[in-house]
Amino acid sequence: MKYIKGVGPARAKLLEEELHIKSCADLIRHYPSHYIDRSRSYPLAELSGDMPAVQVRGRFVTFTTQGEGAKMRLVGLFTDGTATIEVVWFRRIKALKELYQTGREYILFGKPQAFNNRWSMVHPEVDPPDAPGAAEGLRGVYPLTEKLRNRGVSSRNIFTWIQNALKIAGHLPETLPASLISRYRMMSADQAMRVIHNPPDNARLQQARQRLKFEELFYLQLNIRRYSNRRTAAVQGIRFPKIGRFFNTFYSDILPFPLTGAQKRVLREIRADVGSGRQMNRLLQGDVGSGKTIVALMSMLIAIDNGKQACLMAPTEILAQQHYESLRSLAAPLGINVRLLTGSTRKKDRDEIHAQLSDGSLHITIGTHALIENSVQFHDLGMVIIDEQHRFGVMQRARLWSKNATLPHVLVMTATPIPRTLAMTVYGDLDVSVIDELPPGRKPITTLLRYDDQRMQVYRAIGRELAQGRQVYIVYPLIQESEKLDLKSLEEGYELVRDTFPSYRTAFVHGKMKPAEKDHQMHLFANHDAHILVATTVIEVGVNVPNASVMVIENAERFGLSQLHQLRGRVGRGAAQSYCILMSKRKIAADTRKRLELMTTTTDGFAIAEADLKMRGPGDLEGTLQSGIPFDLHIANLATDGQLVQLARNCAEEILDADPPLSLPQHSMLLPELRRLYYRPLDLSRIS
Ligand code: ADP
Ligand code: MG
Repeated sequence: MKYIKGVGPARAKLLEEELHIKSCADLIRHYPSHYIDRSRSYPLAELSGDMPAVQVRGRFVTFTTQGEGAKMRLVGLFTDGTATIEVVWFRRIKALKELYQTGREYILFGKPQAFNNRWSMVHPEVDPPDAPGAAEGLRGVYPLTEKLRNRGVSSRNIFTWIQNALKIAGHLPETLPASLISRYRMMSADQAMRVIHNPPDNARLQQARQRLKFEELFYLQLNIRRYSNRRTAAVQGIRFPKIGRFFNTFYSDILPFPLTGAQKRVLREIRADVGSGRQMNRLLQGDVGSGKTIVALMSMLIAIDNGKQACLMAPTEILAQQHYESLRSLAAPLGINVRLLTGSTRKKDRDEIHAQLSDGSLHITIGTHALIENSVQFHDLGMVIIDEQHRFGVMQRARLWSKNATLPHVLVMTATPIPRTLAMTVYGDLDVSVIDELPPGRKPITTLLRYDDQRMQVYRAIGRELAQGRQVYIVYPLIQESEKLDLKSLEEGYELVRDTFPSYRTAFVHGKMKPAEKDHQMHLFANHDAHILVATTVIEVGVNVPNASVMVIENAERFGLSQLHQLRGRVGRGAAQSYCILMSKRKIAADTRKRLELMTTTTDGFAIAEADLKMRGPGDLEGTLQSGIPFDLHIANLATDGQLVQLARNCAEEILDADPPLSLPQHSMLLPELRRLYYRPLDLSRIS
């Protein structure tokens, strides 16, 4: 890197620190974030304040230095005959004064700003008309950090270094198999890389971008599929040949309602998995309230029918408790032994559970992380269900598996809907099932947007619901360590609620509480000993209180769409009409308003997830796959390049099917490229 002209050791270090650019290969993959059309120049008389950076052409009339010390600046008057503007520099004054000449023609490129009743440009790019790249086609704008800018590195510098690197590199070797290039009529690697940095026109640029996006997604999918194929090959699954007494009796005699079509379909998918002899690794996505628990129970019954044990792991004690209560009452008539194991299980019970687990007399164990402690030994574990997957990492899943000689089947349930193409990547090593249908008879939740000055009106409505025996959630944004203000507004909110509704009991929960106190408060609400729950987002994960009919979300403008949707899902679980009230400041940004208004018009979790992804980008989902494979995308975007993700996936699978070890001569570029992209020491801190 440092040998590239103009870079040198100090800047090489800076580039590595700021942009993770360590080599020329990294440098040329630092793509422009957008392009500016430099094929036309604007007359100075036509400048306006809403223009982005524009190109103008003219001559300097005078240069003067103004101000003193730190405020010193160089001001050039610049004219093209239609108008005159000021060009201002705060740095490198002496050098620039010598460099630029009056009377000579220059092309300037910068953002026009109004200052002292006159248009000005601060630190524009300045080129003589004959400079390479000046006044030609599309010019890339390269992403920079604040620090790089302060150290005088410009987009233009990056451009020049990349040109240099491309020159030194010579013809770039092809990184995709020829069959793919010709089938999809893609540009070669060399061509695409040169075009993306020097696009002759927009059509070519788009072709280059498609090619580079595809390449990135293809290698990502190739890596994921290879990883999961290898695991499938190495792992012997337990075969469950039959559906027996427990499942059948439950289905015909106990199941309190007919299954929805989606639940039936998912159960068929699960039965096919566990009957196949391969280990099941399935992600079950279903919106809140879509009925995942029954599917979990029936999957566990299949395991028990085949003489195996099953367990269900939940992320919190209260959730484990709730699952335990509902599953035990459903399974009791079958004579199945169901127990709850959590951190607060008493020693005597715990010893008994451990004993029953290892002698095989315990069929279903519901629990928290306590299930993966070393002291827990299963007799013969056949099925593991993990609820709310995002709270458990890969390493924890792996620990559960390793408790058995043969690996149990794994079903991961999540209520965070993720668009298919994203799931394909983020959960790339899992098969995906979706429950996309709610049980019949649910009344859609009515969602309203209300402003802070309407709070008393909202409280009156709450009063009416309370009077009918309903319960109410009031949620505040999460408390951050440093955010004393949040705690203050939460506590004030709590006091206001208590004062407004003195004849009702109000429970109070936040993330900084001791777990025991938190559980106590949650139980008050769950058992209807408290009527109102004032809480931070700790309640987000799956509590089930069907009698609650109102969810008030304070500072709703501070939540993301998916989070709002999750919170809203806490109500609408019973027969009553339910309401979600989004409280917000009146003055909010346009996109925030759009987000809140979208919430009032749809309750479809997938539509919301899709919109969220488009508005925010894949955010923290990107970067680490749940499978533990880290990745960064430089050009492709999982939110907007859905079709390419699918295509890349298909191509990767096709190649792996035909050539599992990737050893055919036409695939000779694949392994070295995979190694270059993905071989790094696994950073465990990013996974758990
Ligand atoms: P989630 O997918 O959020 O975990 P649950 O499994 O808790 O949803 O189900 C939500 C509620 O819907 C429960 O009270 C459950 O008994 C009920 N339910 C589930 N499946 C059906 C169905 N097919 N018909 C009617 N009610 C159902
Ligand atoms: Mg659930």
